[in-house]
Amino acid sequence: MPEGLVNRVIVPSFVDGPGSRMAVFLQGCGLACVHCHNPETRVPCGSCGACVEVCPQGALEYVEGRVAHRAERCAACDRCLEACPNGSSPRCRTLDTDALLAEVRPWVPFLDGITFTGGECTLQGAFLLDCLPRLKAETGLDLLLDTCGDVDGDVFEALLAVADGVLFDVKALGEEAHRALTGAGAGRILRNLDRAARAGKITEVRTVVVPGFTDDPAMLRDIALLVAGLGSGVPLVVAGFRPQGVQGALAQEKAVPPADLEHLCGPARAVLGDRLRLR
Ligand code: SF4
Ligand code: SF4
Repeated sequence: MPEGLVNRVIVPSFVDGPGSRMAVFLQGCGLACVHCHNPETRVPCGSCGACVEVCPQGALEYVEGRVAHRAERCAACDRCLEACPNGSSPRCRTLDTDALLAEVRPWVPFLDGITFTGGECTLQGAFLLDCLPRLKAETGLDLLLDTCGDVDGDVFEALLAVADGVLFDVKALGEEAHRALTGAGAGRILRNLDRAARAGKITEVRTVVVPGFTDDPAMLRDIALLVAGLGSGVPLVVAGFRPQGVQGALAQEKAVPPADLEHLCGPARAVLGDRLRLR
């Protein structure tokens, strides 16, 4: 049975899609966004051991060349994440579908759905293809993928067939701007956005206004035009940059005030009207 590498599970969550949800954060991402809020989800742990000494609870041990996490001792202080030089976490665990279902069952009466996020959840396609149909059959919950679409097109197509919808993150438009923000091009991302639209599986498109990168009314208007072409019901959710969790060059950057966000989104609102939502 395929296993997923899981960074953490948050339940209940009210920010990872509509209603009350379980959010399953899968480890690993091919992008390196300067505004990433979850940099500890980027790569699997390399077992370098640098985090073991900083744990004030003795929850980390180096055993046979690997870091072991004792969850029962962990105080979730995040000092290990701050100490990791690799953008990882020693608290990741592997779960197969049976194990995930065991965690989901007690919550089913209280949930509207489950969102797989990350990291880039679609990079663990084999795990998702195994567990989404079983989750659907047993729980009937709404199953969403929070994705930037940076994955092989055939894998994405297969995932669209078993997911109820996608929360699709459009980081930037224009090859140069996309590379500056994420470290990668946007080609297959936009092709996968088109695949999701043709499958009728886009729950919402999301983008973040990042100071110095995407705080550009013309780019936001172009993203709105892109969304307008995807189908009449697709909303665009625009969030202002927030520094929580961000490392590197933007760690000290201030949050985008709501009034600035409204102003920057003026041309986009002219395109989408009520389908544009600010967060
Ligand atoms: S979050 Fe990390 S450093 Fe803090 S107690 Fe848990 S394992 Fe230790
Ligand atoms: S979590 Fe980071 S610091 Fe800790 S062992 Fe893994 S790679 Fe090293």
